[in-house]
Amino acid sequence: MTCQYNFSAGPSMIPRAVLNQAQEELLDWHGTGMSVMEMSHRSKQYLPIIEEAEAGLRDLLSIPKNYKVLFLQGGAITQNIMVPMNLLANRSASYVASGYWSKRTYTDAQVFSNINMAASSESINYTQAPNMKSWNFSKQDAYVHFCLNETIHGVEYFEDPKIDEVPIVCDMSSNILSRGIDVSSYGVIYAGAQKNIGPAGLTLIIVRDDLLDFADKKTPTTLSWKIQSDNNSMINTPSTFSIYMAGLVFKWLKEKGGLKEVEKFNIKKASVLYDFIDQSDFYYNDIDISNRSRMNVPFRIKDDSLTMTFVAEAEKKGLYQLKGHRLVGGLRASIYNAMPIEGVNALIQFMKEFEKNNT
Ligand SMILES: *Cc1c(COP(=O)(O)O)cnc(C)c1O
Repeated sequence: MTCQYNFSAGPSMIPRAVLNQAQEELLDWHGTGMSVMEMSHRSKQYLPIIEEAEAGLRDLLSIPKNYKVLFLQGGAITQNIMVPMNLLANRSASYVASGYWSKRTYTDAQVFSNINMAASSESINYTQAPNMKSWNFSKQDAYVHFCLNETIHGVEYFEDPKIDEVPIVCDMSSNILSRGIDVSSYGVIYAGAQKNIGPAGLTLIIVRDDLLDFADKKTPTTLSWKIQSDNNSMINTPSTFSIYMAGLVFKWLKEKGGLKEVEKFNIKKASVLYDFIDQSDFYYNDIDISNRSRMNVPFRIKDDSLTMTFVAEAEKKGLYQLKGHRLVGGLRASIYNAMPIEGVNALIQFMKEFEKNNT
């Protein structure tokens, strides 16, 4: 059995070219005689690696100068606690629930006081993201939190919020770098790396510098954005190898033509797959067309009893990880930046054959 294409939601595919480069450099990075994994994070060999990674990211997203970039750990879920610890300062905050992850963020934050729901689409099973105009928050809130792309439900916002009164905190774990965004529309952006950035173990934070001064005094040093920022993400040892890999991915995206080109490519991949699902009487996707995720495409077979056979037969063809999340069932194809169009075409070809053999 060989994997042709990996549709995992995360950890997920990393561009082949990046893996090849990492392999070439694995034992001896640029004539240092060391692997990146063996380097002191404070050494003169390693510093250019983290600096280039940050510069690459700033360039891709056109991050304004008054935003800090942090390379932390703990995954997106640790931010569920770090966001209130670093921002709340005994005020209130509002949360939008557009799927499993943002609802979980809201629930996790309940250990703090005055955490409110701004809008939720739970009652319609998250088939649509609550319209940004419907978000019900208070101007006194410390922040409004939402998730730009719901990885499990396949629900994505395609606009940046235009809200000036309150800083917006956004979980972009599964669609960061899939297209350009206006960073200045956000107060804080965070993302676990293992979907569209690189290996697991790295969490990216982009934070407007005036938001660094609200941390609760009891915030541990490693969890304080401010202290990490003052120490270039090195108040403790950062995930050095993942940062190196992320830097290679940023270069790869730049070589692809930057995020404008990457977006075109992602639109194409997602639309061929949705078009195929929509014309079929065998498969379906019930997410509102205006919110259909370009990164995570959940779909179902009308005869649900065929789902596990689909997954097993797809795997025999080298199409991996098509099973839907255990909470929602069905099927899901995650088609992040690293998934080539050939992978989507191979999936569609398999779906056609499976339909033919089972009707
Ligand atoms: C995967 C994911 C998470 C969880 O990330 P961890 O790195 O496992 O903590 C949170 N939010 C979104 C949108 C995700 O896709």
